[in-house]
Amino acid sequence: MKIVANLAQIQSQINDIERQYQRPKGSVRLLAVSKTRSVDEIRAAIGAGQRHFGENYCQEAIEKIKVLKNPELTWHFIGPIQSNKSRQIATNFDWVHTVDRIKIARRLNEARLESSHALKICVQINISEEQSKSGISINEARDFIKELDGFSNLCVRGLMALPAPASLIEEQRKPFAKLRECFEQLRQNRPELDTLSIGTTQDMEAAIAEGATIVRIGTAIFGPRNA
Ligand SMILES: *Cc1c(COP(=O)(O)O)cnc(C)c1O
Repeated sequence: MKIVANLAQIQSQINDIERQYQRPKGSVRLLAVSKTRSVDEIRAAIGAGQRHFGENYCQEAIEKIKVLKNPELTWHFIGPIQSNKSRQIATNFDWVHTVDRIKIARRLNEARLESSHALKICVQINISEEQSKSGISINEARDFIKELDGFSNLCVRGLMALPAPASLIEEQRKPFAKLRECFEQLRQNRPELDTLSIGTTQDMEAAIAEGATIVRIGTAIFGPRNA
């Protein structure tokens, strides 16, 4: 399957870009975005050694998670969170990248079983503000994260963003650079923050140049999605 070759190629691109921008080897994790993809496509990626998968739609994801039933896999929720889905997200996923409301965080915290490891969280930041309604603004990040401190079943790991598309790498780097600056400031008081979830197929190099620790790649692994 093409998926196997694609994964090898992207992993080697990531290694090259790490080197080019003086990032430590292995500091960027590849998250395979498998929304809309079949269980067989995901199995092909697993066969090639991929272990981290990102999904956007709760129901679709949970069906796949249950069919695959593989304890070696780590599932990341990267879509908008509907309040009534927060329980299912909290109990089926290991990571949630798109936390941008305290109300949702509270629900995730309440639903996360205390017997499980804390749910790993990224706070979604809206860095190109006109583009989408998802994410808090960058200057709210500090207070927002402070409010999450009270939720003992959540573990805040960092920031996530999905900026407006741009074609030139110089343009792509600008919003990521702003996010990185915010991240570095937060880390001065919170060294446990270790995750910057930025970069898709379109802007992976710019994201790694600006400090991505997780890149979320769908199309370059699985091919174009049907609309
Ligand atoms: C779909 C999606 C991706 C992957 O995008 P590609 O262009 O297919 O690599 C990454 N992040 C989020 C939040 C997504 O919804």
